[in-house]
Amino acid sequence: MARVSDGRVQQLAANLAAFEARLMAACAAAERPRSEITVVAVTKTFPASDVAALVTLGVGDFGENRDGEARAKAAAIPGVRWHFVGRLQRNKCRSVATYADAVHSVDRIEVADALAHGAARAGRLVDVLVQASLDGDPARGGALPADIPGIAEACARAECLRLSGLMAVAPMDADPDAAFARLAEMAAALVADHPRADAISAGMSGDLEPAVRHGATHVRVGTALLGGRTPRGR
Ligand SMILES: *Cc1c(COP(=O)(O)O)cnc(C)c1O
Repeated sequence: MARVSDGRVQQLAANLAAFEARLMAACAAAERPRSEITVVAVTKTFPASDVAALVTLGVGDFGENRDGEARAKAAAIPGVRWHFVGRLQRNKCRSVATYADAVHSVDRIEVADALAHGAARAGRLVDVLVQASLDGDPARGGALPADIPGIAEACARAECLRLSGLMAVAPMDADPDAAFARLAEMAAALVADHPRADAISAGMSGDLEPAVRHGATHVRVGTALLGGRTPRGR
């Protein structure tokens, strides 16, 4: 792995400090303890040396959205928690189940089943969140509200999966507050059936505050920690 420059470490440390202050302010405004929220650093498109630098700064949870890239970084940086947050095709599930500690983007029963199979084969227990669509556009990923209970059930009955909660990405051009309020309602419905599935993965660099306001337990943060991405990173 390329050695990370001192300048880059200092930049990441400054980004992390600024983000932490912003998160503390969001928690204070929402009257929630900071300890309820896990920060997942989304390192897609950035090198494993940045992951290593963030580890030295105390970050322990990392997110990726493509199997090949995620797999390589997880192999390079063991001893942290890896979260898979991207669109998931059935044929990638076997690979993802070998390194992901949590998968946030389960949006079809066939993906739940394939992950369960992969996790069993790898002898691992994988946390899974059902991704809910907040804009009803299947092209952007996420299950429609009516489909969530069946997907959750498929996860809950798999011995090697642990149903942890819901994930969502706010719609492109709509009010994130309203969207995350709907997500909170869906999360309450899920918890009624599955009491331990109380995680809500919501909030990215641009919509942290409304997500924290509406109960996010996991925020997935790329740009605010690592800087701008080249175009492929979305
Ligand atoms: C890239 C990505 C993020 C992080 O986005 P930023 O706006 O850079 O913070 C969060 N969640 C998912 C699913 C992503 O693909």
